[in-house]
Amino acid sequence: MKQLIACCGLDCESCDARIATVRDDNELREKTAQLWSKLNNIPEITADTINCMGCCVDGVKTMYCSDMCAIRKCVNEKGFNTCG
Ligand code: SF4
Repeated sequence: MKQLIACCGLDCESCDARIATVRDDNELREKTAQLWSKLNNIPEITADTINCMGCCVDGVKTMYCSDMCAIRKCVNEKGFNTCG
């Protein structure tokens, strides 16, 4: 199983949050925060919260994937690798 596939099936390798983190790209952090905040109606998603190394690897996670994602929570509680 590819390590950078998230519990939900998203490809963390192509996620803007991970790309911004790996590149330390504050412009991409800002752009991503504005989009995600609007799409999810969560004003707490700000550029300084856009730091993530990936769903299933060690390291920092975004607030959504770390604390709010019901799929990740379910997968981890059941000891699976992915929802699939
Ligand atoms: S876990 Fe991180 S890298 Fe993966 S989809 Fe969520 S925010 Fe993006």
